[in-house]
Amino acid sequence: MAELKLSETRDLTRVERIGAHSHIRGLGLDSVLEPRAVSEGMVGQIKARKAAGVILQMIRERKIAGRAILIAGQPGTGKTAIAMGIAKSLGLETPFTMIAGSEIFSLEMSKTEALTQAFRKAIGVRIKEETEVLEGEVVSISIDRPASSGGAVNKTGKITMKTTDMESDHGLGPKLIEALDKEKVQSGDVIVFDRACGKITKLGRSFTRSRDFDVMGSKTKFVQCPEGELQKWKEVVHTVTLHEIDVINSRTQGFQALFTGDTGEIRAETRDQIDSKVAEWREEGKAEIVPGVLFIDEVHMLDIECFSFLNRALENDMSPILVVATNRGMTRIRGTNQVSPHGIPIDLLDRLLIITTQPYTEDEIKNILEIRCQEEEVEMKEEAKQLLTLIGCDTSLRYAIHLINAAALACLKRKGKVVEIEDIERVYRLFLDTKRSMQYLVEHQNQYMF
Ligand code: ATP
Repeated sequence: MAELKLSETRDLTRVERIGAHSHIRGLGLDSVLEPRAVSEGMVGQIKARKAAGVILQMIRERKIAGRAILIAGQPGTGKTAIAMGIAKSLGLETPFTMIAGSEIFSLEMSKTEALTQAFRKAIGVRIKEETEVLEGEVVSISIDRPASSGGAVNKTGKITMKTTDMESDHGLGPKLIEALDKEKVQSGDVIVFDRACGKITKLGRSFTRSRDFDVMGSKTKFVQCPEGELQKWKEVVHTVTLHEIDVINSRTQGFQALFTGDTGEIRAETRDQIDSKVAEWREEGKAEIVPGVLFIDEVHMLDIECFSFLNRALENDMSPILVVATNRGMTRIRGTNQVSPHGIPIDLLDRLLIITTQPYTEDEIKNILEIRCQEEEVEMKEEAKQLLTLIGCDTSLRYAIHLINAAALACLKRKGKVVEIEDIERVYRLFLDTKRSMQYLVEHQNQYMF
């Protein structure tokens, strides 16, 4: 692996995995990090958002190394939404990876490999490269502007273009003629012509070397720019994740695996080589590490081995910001007989900054449902929204959110345009929430297999 392959990743756009949170665009904080009641798709949960704002500040000031955040609260109280809000507030370039604790138990790879991949997906590498970009073409023009033409540019004239790597004669295109006229460009002016927008920028006439030059029989001045003026260097920056670099450079996986997600295990030697190459780039000032956010939902599903992995991983200077969430109280730590708060070992708990989320009020639920209706482009009558809010209070916010789209389909089926109470009632009868599902099971348990 002489050269790390990076170019292939440049055009990869991040795939939004979490449609349920697509309305969350940040934490909804003001300039002094105070939560606005409703902002950036966020509603209520003021205390938790305020705490998240403090954490955001710590992340920005790089004061959070070696620690992690636990968001604890009842189901559907916005733990994931807050984690998303933190990630979005850090900017588009900040990698955000989300996994559920149970996802790491798979037959295809070991638990630690799955966790390593998740960590490396949340570590960005900002690579700087210098690329020559000619914003237009530096053109030495020779314009025949005979007095008889009233000063208009002779359309049969020629221009001599001088760019860094070529010098050639071109006939005047209509766009250039128009621009030359508009800017009153004279022979001898040195200009930058941006072909795309047809705009001319005059660079002036004070250039070091000039000589007379004959174009199409007319005496014109050929002006040569000093070297520096001709070259426009632009710093181009790409951000890729360490995991993307791993996959592309892994002989067994390769580029395709990035799309299929079927990366399998990546060899430790590959990662070591990549880490030392990246360290080299950092030293040379060619690359910077962008710690992203790794969000592990249902963290109580991890076992004791995973927790020791997390403890170790947090010590690494490239570690992303780890945000874990759980809706469990006192729970057994998997892989042990020990009961601990949230099912997390005490030594890891000790490193965590803990944020708690609270159940929503009726108004907040209504607000969130309204935002989701807008997001899913569903028009709903006020009474239907009220009914949906009551359902949300009685069952769960997530169940009510799920009914929005189902109700829109029911509305479409009856050829309606706006979701009405009857559509909500219909889908409420069709799809059970957890409470009714449990009740049904209790009533019919003798019909099921034991
Ligand atoms: P669980 O414990 O079941 O994982 P959770 O606490 O992570 O639940 P979320 O998944 O974040 O809950 O919330 C459920 C839905 O409600 C999501 O669509 C989420 O975006 C939305 N939501 C939750 N809280 C808010 C909020 N404060 N503002 C806007 N939307 C919210």
